[in-house]
Amino acid sequence: MPLACVQGVVIVGVQGIVVRVEVAVSDGLPSVGVVGLPDASVAESRWRARCAVEASGRKWPNRRITVSLSPAEVRKHGAGLDLPMAIGILAADGAFPPAAIASTALIGELGLDGRVRPSRGMLAAVLAARQAGLERVIVASRGTAELEAVSGISIVRAHTLHHVCAVLEGGVVDDEPVPGDGDDTMDGADGTPHDDDREAVGSSAALDLADVRGHLLPRWAVEVAAAGGHHLAMVGPPGVGKTLLVERLPGLLPPLSDDDSLEVAAIHSVAGLPRSMREIPVPPLSAPHHSASASSLLGSVHGGRVLPGAVTMAHRGVLLLDEAPEFARPVLEGLRQPLESGVVSVNRTSWSGLLPARFQLAITANPCPCGKRIGTGAGCSCSPSAVRRYAARLSGPLMDRIDIRLAVSRPSVGELDSAERSESSATVRARVQSARERMSHRLASTPWRVNAQVPAGELRRRWPLRSDGADLLAEIERGSENLRGVDRVLRVSWTLADLRKIDAPGRDEVAGALALRGAHAGLAS
Ligand SMILES: [Zn+2]
Repeated sequence: MPLACVQGVVIVGVQGIVVRVEVAVSDGLPSVGVVGLPDASVAESRWRARCAVEASGRKWPNRRITVSLSPAEVRKHGAGLDLPMAIGILAADGAFPPAAIASTALIGELGLDGRVRPSRGMLAAVLAARQAGLERVIVASRGTAELEAVSGISIVRAHTLHHVCAVLEGGVVDDEPVPGDGDDTMDGADGTPHDDDREAVGSSAALDLADVRGHLLPRWAVEVAAAGGHHLAMVGPPGVGKTLLVERLPGLLPPLSDDDSLEVAAIHSVAGLPRSMREIPVPPLSAPHHSASASSLLGSVHGGRVLPGAVTMAHRGVLLLDEAPEFARPVLEGLRQPLESGVVSVNRTSWSGLLPARFQLAITANPCPCGKRIGTGAGCSCSPSAVRRYAARLSGPLMDRIDIRLAVSRPSVGELDSAERSESSATVRARVQSARERMSHRLASTPWRVNAQVPAGELRRRWPLRSDGADLLAEIERGSENLRGVDRVLRVSWTLADLRKIDAPGRDEVAGALALRGAHAGLAS
C-alpha cells in the first residue's frame, strides 16, 4: 500500500507545533478520510486540496485515501495543512521521491485554483519547524515578509501548488506573478473575522521623546520607569500630555534580544498583526481602549483559533491603559494574574491553556471625575465621596504594584520656552541601557532582571543603603501609614542610583524616589 509522510505545522495557542501528515492510498471506493483530531477547517482541506491538485494539471488518485495527523491528541485548526495534505496525497501516489520531502515542512492554504496563500501565524510556524530540526520550509510567496528575520532554516517561497511540485521534483520554475494575486487575505479559509475591537499594537517605533516639550519631571519619571522596569501611573487633567509621555516608554527600553524579538513577532503573527522589520527589536506597545471587554484584554478563542488579548500583545513590552479608571472592574481585576505570574490563562471549551503576558504596565488617569483636582484643586466641582469612588475603581492590589505615580500638570510657559530642544529617545535610552547593565551586574545569580522585580525584603537584606539614605528612609517609614509605599520608594531609589552610576542609594536618591511616588491625595498617593 503506497504511503507517504510530510510535515506541516499547526498553531496551538501562540505557538507552532509540527504535525506529521501520513497518507495512505489503497484500493477501494474513491474517498478521503482524515483522522487525528481535525476540526472542520482541517477536514475541509481535502476538498481544497483536490481542486488545487486538478487545477495544477496533476492527477488526483481516484482511490481510497486515508490521511492521519499526529500527534493525535493535539486538536488541529486552520487551513495551513492544505498544502502538506495535497503534497502528501501526490507523494503517496508516487509523484515525489521520499527524500524530496523528508526534511521539509510545508505551510500554506490552497486556493481552488492552486494558488498558495499564507496562513495565519507563519512566523510561529516557521520557528516551530526550525526548532524541530527541519532543514527547509516551503511557504507562500506573498504575505510572508515577517519571515525575513528568520535564519537557520532554508525558506522557499512558492506561489502555486504547481510551483511547489516543481521545487520538490528539483526542477526550476520561473517565479512569475499570478494574475489577480492581489486579493490574498489571511482570513480566507480560516473563517475568522477581522479583529475590529482590538487596538493597533507595536506602533511605538516612530514615537520620539524629542517631540514632547517641557514636562521635565514627567519625562524623568518615564526614564526611571524604563530603567528599573517599574510600572508607572500618570495622573493629571485631560489634554495635559500624559498619554504622549507614556506611549514613548517602549522606545526608551533596551531593544529586544534576537530571541525575544522573534518570540514577540511570532505572537503578533499569530494574531494576524505582523510586526514590520523596523519594529521588530522595539518592545511592543499595546494600548486597548477603555471600552475593551475582558476577552479582548485577556484573550479569547474564536472557532478553535486563539486570539491573543492585549496583555499578550504587550508581552516583553508595555501595556498602556489610558484613562484606567474608565475600564470595567472585571477587566482591571483580570490583570492580577499576568502581573503576578507573567502568563494569562484562557479557558474555553474549544481550547484552554496559558498565553505569555509579561509586560510593563503604564496607566494614565484623571485625578477626579471632572479632571481638575490637581495642585490646589481650584475649579474641581467633585464631592470628596465622588473622588474616593473614582480612585477606588483602581483596586489596591493593582495600585500596589505601581512603583511610580506622578501628578502631571500643564507645563508652564517658562518651562516650554526653556525646553526648546528636548532630548531624543535615543539619548535617554543610552542612559537606561547603562543603568540596566549596572542592575544586571548586581542582580546576576538572582532570579530578578530589573529592580522592579526585587521584593523589598530582599532589597533590605542583601543590599544596604548608604547611611544618609537609610536615615531618610527610616524617617519616611516612621511618618508613613503605608509600608508598601515605603517599599516602592526603596525600589525606585535603587534605580536612581543605577542611573546616577553610584553603588548604593543615598539621601538624594531616596528623596528623588519619594518625589516620584506622588504627593497629592487620591490616585497619585
Ligand atoms: Zn473634579
